[in-house]
Amino acid sequence: MANQTLELSNKVSEFLKGVKKLYIDGKFVESSSSKTFETFNPATEEVLATVYEAEEKDIDLAVKAAKKAFDEGPWSKMSAADRAKLIFKLADLIEKHQEELAQLDTLDNGKPINETRAVDVPGTIESFRYFAGWATKNMGQTIPVSGPFLNYTRHEPVGVVGQIIPWNYPINMVSWKVAPALAAGCTVVLKPAEQTPLSALYFAELVEKAGFPAGVVNIVPGFGAKAGHAIVEHPDVNKVSFTGSTSIGKQIMKQAADSMKRLTLELGGKSPNIILPDADLSKAIPGVFTGIMFNQGEVCSAGSRVYVHKDQFDEVVSGMVSLAENVKLGNGLDTDTTMGPLVSKKQQDRVFEYINKGKEEGAKVATGGKKSGKGFFVEPTIFIGVEEYMTIAKEEIFGPVVVVMPYDTVEEVIERANNSPYGLGAGIWTENVKLAHKVANQLKSGSVWINCYDVIDPASPFGGYKQSGFGRDLSAYALESYTEVKSVWVNLE
Ligand code: ADP
Repeated sequence: MANQTLELSNKVSEFLKGVKKLYIDGKFVESSSSKTFETFNPATEEVLATVYEAEEKDIDLAVKAAKKAFDEGPWSKMSAADRAKLIFKLADLIEKHQEELAQLDTLDNGKPINETRAVDVPGTIESFRYFAGWATKNMGQTIPVSGPFLNYTRHEPVGVVGQIIPWNYPINMVSWKVAPALAAGCTVVLKPAEQTPLSALYFAELVEKAGFPAGVVNIVPGFGAKAGHAIVEHPDVNKVSFTGSTSIGKQIMKQAADSMKRLTLELGGKSPNIILPDADLSKAIPGVFTGIMFNQGEVCSAGSRVYVHKDQFDEVVSGMVSLAENVKLGNGLDTDTTMGPLVSKKQQDRVFEYINKGKEEGAKVATGGKKSGKGFFVEPTIFIGVEEYMTIAKEEIFGPVVVVMPYDTVEEVIERANNSPYGLGAGIWTENVKLAHKVANQLKSGSVWINCYDVIDPASPFGGYKQSGFGRDLSAYALESYTEVKSVWVNLE
């Protein structure tokens, strides 16, 4: 495709004007303090938009609105079928406005427009449709207990849910959190990441257009230490669902313990992607490459540790290097860009700290490792000569940086793959079906991809073992996590 710089849709240009307001109790409002913050285009380093900043008082208003919509209705009094209809309608509106949402996420996050159009926004629509279907199917059980009793369970919504999301998949994360909560009958206070609040605010307009009752969905952009902290602290929030770093996840877990809020935590990773000795390298090489480099490596389940049998090491590294050297770094709005900038200067600095640490500790850069012009770009970077004890082999970098390490035996590579505090994703490349399943069973991670990587479907659970968190996003498991189970006993005598 010839390179074209996309012209922004009129709706997006219009949307970026003026100070963006919080969405609380069915109204677009200024923050109580009138404080604002700016969001930047990471490809140009220019200010993209100005947004009102939610703080404790605004969070309190949003939680009160969500509690009222839950306790007094109409949301909690609506039939499941009517809730489903509204969620389907919202999905239709997202579909109708998909181009605006794709452009906003490319502008705010930096990722290529080809990806926001093909992955982020379609995935968002699918999630809403999938969970809309669940609204009418969240059934309890009738249980054959002893004695003259009828016993049945009800799946009740947990109540007001606080949702805190990261900047790597802005609109998609909205759908992963909001869709199952609404399907279960909960009401929502969602805080987008301060780096990427725009698509969530555009989404708020669609919620309003769809006709959701006031207070069912509240969108409150702001910073973690204030708005995020206030959500976790609020006594009327019954559950917190958080996607972000492991360190903040731990903090939230401690903070939520006091009021024993229900928690879903989807945290960091250092996921192994293993090429077994019999793999078809023509598929495995591009597979492991995309497994780390997709979305600039800003993916919690990115396959950031690639393990290759020692006899194939040189061939795999040279294949990956040549793919890296063909990556077209650029503004996400250019249609031939295959990798955008990182989301922020802070993230770019963080990634370079790791690259420098890698070099200091004795690893060798096979390709990349540099910045590139204006904008928060980082070249796709491949490290070799890496030992397991090195920082770049152990810690999550959250950027386009991969360590490629040789191994000798399959037993050894399984042990090394599992030797991490994280357990989010893992990949296996092999033509041997038996071996694939044996290895998959032994890997301690929430997802295992065989001859593919990072495939996602709203019907399949996503989440982590160990310090990658607990609970699952997507699938019936996510729906369950927004549900309290009530056991009801009836004396039949
Ligand atoms: P990153 O370092 O990649 O930005 P974070 O875990 O800090 O990842 O951020 C993920 C989300 O968590 C963002 O929405 C952020 O504002 C929020 N957040 C950060 N700190 C806190 C906190 N102390 N309490 C609640 N939310 C927070």
